[in-house]
Amino acid sequence: MFERFFPDEWVESAYCIDYEAYYEAGYRGLIFDIDNTLVPHGADADERAIELFDRLKKIGFDICLLSNNKKPRVERFNKDVNVNYIFKAGKPYSKNYYVAAMMTRTSTKSSLVIGDQLFTDIYGGKLAEIHTILVNPIDKKEDFFVRLKRLLEKPVMMFYKHSLKEKVSEMPRNRKPESKVNHKRLKKEKHMTASERLARIERLFESRYI
Ligand SMILES: [Mg+2]
Repeated sequence: MFERFFPDEWVESAYCIDYEAYYEAGYRGLIFDIDNTLVPHGADADERAIELFDRLKKIGFDICLLSNNKKPRVERFNKDVNVNYIFKAGKPYSKNYYVAAMMTRTSTKSSLVIGDQLFTDIYGGKLAEIHTILVNPIDKKEDFFVRLKRLLEKPVMMFYKHSLKEKVSEMPRNRKPESKVNHKRLKKEKHMTASERLARIERLFESRYI
C-alpha cells in the first residue's frame, strides 16, 4: 500500500548523482526541488549549486526548478543559476510536472525528478510517471511542519528500506541489468558485496532520520 510513495532511487545528495550516466541513457530534462535538495531552506544558490548547474548545462541537460515556495524565493535562487522555474507548483499535483517536462523540451519519459520530500517531490513525480530520485535533506534542523512531515513519512521509508533490502538479498550474482542506468550503476557497484549494499541502505536511513 505504501509502494505508490517509493522513489525509483534513493541517494544521499543531489550532488552525488552520476548525471553523465543518465544523459548517456537518454535522459534530457532535470526537474529539481530547491529547498533542502540543492541548498538549505531559503538559501541563495551557493558555489556548489552554481558549479553543478554549469556542469549539467555543459552535459546538455535542460533544467526546471519546481518549487512550492513563492515567486521571490524561487527567483532569488534562480538569479545565479538561470534556468526555467515554476513557483507555487502545487506539488504533489502532477500538472506542473508535465509543464516542467515541457519547459525542459522533453517528455516525462526522459526527465528526472530530484527532491528531498517523499509526499510532495517524489509522490508527484510518480503520479506524472517520471523517474524519481529521493535525496536526504541538506539541513536536518527543519521547522516544525517539515519535521512533522518527516515523522509521517518515516513508516513509509521503513517499508521502502525493507523492500530494498529484500531486493539485495534476492539479487542473483549475475543478474541481467534492467536498463542502461541500472547497468551503469551496477557496474559501479559490482564490487560491492550484499552486506555492503545493505550497510549503504542502512546509512541512508540513519542519515535521513538523525
Ligand atoms: Mg525540499
